[in-house]
Order: sequence, then structure tokens, then C-alpha cells
Amino acid sequence: MPRLLLLLPTTTYRTAAFLGAAKKLGVEVVVASERAHVFQQAQPGRFLSLDFLHPDQAARQVVEFVATRPIHAVVGVDDATTVLAAVLLNALGLPHNPLRSTAAARDKYRMRTRLRGDGVPVPPYALRSFDDDPVVEARRTAFPCVVKPLMLSGSRGVIRADDEAQFVGAVRRLERILRRPEAADDGEAARQVLVEGFIPGREVALEGLLVKGDLHVLALFDKPDPLDGPFFEETIYVAPSRLPSTVQAEIASCTARAAQALGLRDGPVHAELRVNRHGPSVIEIAARSIGGLCSRTLRFGTGLSLEELILRQALGMEIRSLERERRAVGVMMLPIPRTGVLKEVRGQAEARAVPGIDEVTITAHPGQDLVPLPEGASYPGFIFARAESPERVEAALREAHRRLDFVVMAPRKPTEAI
Ligand code: ADP
Repeated sequence: MPRLLLLLPTTTYRTAAFLGAAKKLGVEVVVASERAHVFQQAQPGRFLSLDFLHPDQAARQVVEFVATRPIHAVVGVDDATTVLAAVLLNALGLPHNPLRSTAAARDKYRMRTRLRGDGVPVPPYALRSFDDDPVVEARRTAFPCVVKPLMLSGSRGVIRADDEAQFVGAVRRLERILRRPEAADDGEAARQVLVEGFIPGREVALEGLLVKGDLHVLALFDKPDPLDGPFFEETIYVAPSRLPSTVQAEIASCTARAAQALGLRDGPVHAELRVNRHGPSVIEIAARSIGGLCSRTLRFGTGLSLEELILRQALGMEIRSLERERRAVGVMMLPIPRTGVLKEVRGQAEARAVPGIDEVTITAHPGQDLVPLPEGASYPGFIFARAESPERVEAALREAHRRLDFVVMAPRKPTEAI
């Protein structure tokens, strides 16, 4: 039986989806996490605690582990683990994306530099340090701009500024976010800030699978809500895209060129692009699949999940079809209504009753602190829909959301503001 090492950070939403896929494929899973698992003592061959922040140390541990239990594939499920997965595969002598490619895809500045170097359209950008005086930097910045961290994800710390005063506020706010212990792990990157020109236009997300350097588009999602800032909270994703097929083809080719520029060859990619009259620009391309619980919207061939596709590819198993089901699908990442402590979410049954709604999943638990962007890092839940057309999917998601009522109590402590 093939054995798979799954890198599952404790913060991931994807555990059930990947474990379910592995079970369906009949592969044995070793779960690696950054903290010791409660079952580790009882089942030492099934769980590994690895230092996700020190790949060389983790690689030594994994090499030791395989001396008694061979591993046939390593899969990192999200941004925090893609680089480590490549390092571990390298240490085990298994095929992997080049280490510098996965590292560049994790660092927004390196990514921009590689893409621009290869002529892939990206926003204008400049690297700045928190050691520079933001008041001075503001004077040499063109507006509107976007201030962002190099390493965080999920739009955390990404702030639009329209003038010098907003720029200074945004830089100081980002610096405070990066001073938090979980971000400080990013070392030098946590002292730097990327300042980009704001690209107006519609935004799309492309979910793809690279197979020997060729990009297969698994799904192209429209994001029908405007994402104009100052913060960039994701809400609705709907596939198939309603953009003209010529524009969709340009988006696919731009993403393929971006993957090539980074040197990524195999495995999932998730790209965010903005499209306007000048064509598409790549905002981001990551060597991972779609985040949160959003992959639940996707079904391929005879009903395979995205996670099954990813595991099949990693294990060298046959994939008959990469074709997504025909129906329109969508997901709404539930916006955080306001800062505070979640008491309850009312109206769930009413939201589920909306025609076209597949599922309403509240992932936040009562008593949880709700922290909106740019400081926050997670969604309180997801709504999933399927219908005959993207328009119906979008309408169903909006109606279901309208029926939900988040009861939020006052925050425990004051939060920072611009
Ligand atoms: P993350 O990796 O944290 O998601 P991104 O760089 O992808 O960070 O930015 C998050 C979101 O912010 C994007 O999806 C987009 O909506 C918006 N955004 C980021 N950079 C720009 C830009 N230069 N122009 C316009 N919007 C941007």
C-alpha cells in the first residue's frame, strides 16, 4: 500500500478533505503537523510532529522516519507547507518542483521579480523596509497603491492607500500586524513591505493543475463582488466564469506563463488575476490549491474531489479526466460582520432552504473572537451552491447570506485601527 506524508498545519481547514481523499484512494497516511498529536504516542507510525519553520531539521526527521516506513509522496496542503513539501521530497529523492520555484511562489516580492523578468504582466511594485520613514516614502509613492506583507496570505495585511496620509497609516498598521508572534517567524520578510500600484478591474481566481509543465485549468472563478479596498475580503466565487471566452483564454495563458516563469512544473496552482482593458495582470500565483473549504465546490470526471486529483498526481496514479462537472457552482466565504465575540449564527436552516444551496457551514465556534481584515486570518463559515447558471448560483448565495444573522458581542479588548 502506498504511503503518503500529509503536511497538515493545525490551522488548516483541509484536514477532512485530504484524509477523506486518501481513504478513498486506499493509501496509508502519515500526518505531519507542527505540534505533537494527541495520538502520536499510541500510533507513532501514523503521526509526526515536524518543525515547519525549519525545513532542514524536518527533513532530517523524515529521512530517519523512512528508514523503517518508506514514504511514496509528500503533499503540503496550503501556503505554510508548500516549500517544506518540496524540501522533504528533495531529501527523499522523490520528484518535486524546484526549491527556488516554491520559495519564490511563497514570497510576493520574489514572485513579482521573477514574473516581471519574464514579461508576465504584474502591478508596478517596490520593496520598502519598516526601517524607512513612511512619511518620506509616501512622497515618492504613486496613488492609489496597495501596501502588503511579503509572506502572509488570505489578504491579511493587504491595505489600499489613496494618498500620503493613508499610506503612512497603512504601513504603520501592517508593521503592527507583522510584529505579532505568528508573523515574526517570517524573519527578515517581516521587516519588509511591498508597495504596489493598485490595478483596477474585475478579479478572477484560476484553479489549475500543472502536469509536466503544462497548465490544465480546473476552474476559473469570477469574483462578482468589487474588491476595491481598503481591505480585500474575499466573498463570492462562482464558476464557470461569465467573462468572454477570449478573455478566459488570455487569463489561462497569462497564468501558464506565470507558472513557467517561476519554474513550477507539477501540482496544484491557485492564481488571482485582475482583468481590465489592458488585459490580465497576475496578482498572485501560489503552488497550492484553493484555500478554506472552497474546494468543496469542485467535482471532476466521475465525481473526484480536488484533493483526490492532487493525491493521485502526487502518487503517480492514473487521472482519467480533469474535466469539471457541467453545473455552475459557487461558494461564499462569509464576511466577518464586525469585531467581537461570536455568540451564535441564526437563520442557518432558512439559509439552507434557499433553492440551489448545498450546504451552510459555520466554522467559527460560539465564544470565538471575530477579527476582520486586515488583522484577521479566518472566515467564520462558508455557503456552497450549485445551479444551472452562474447567475442563479450567485443569487442563491446572496439570498442565503441575507438570511443569516450573526450575533456578535462586544470585543474583549480594544482593537487597533488606522
Ligand atoms: P494574499 O496572498 O494575502 O491573498 P494578495 O497579494 O493576493 O495577498 O492580495 C489579496 C487581495 O488584495 C487580492 O486578491 C486583490 O483583491 C487585492 N490586491 C492585492 N494587490 C493588488 C493590486 N496591486 N491591485 C489591486 N488589488 C490588489
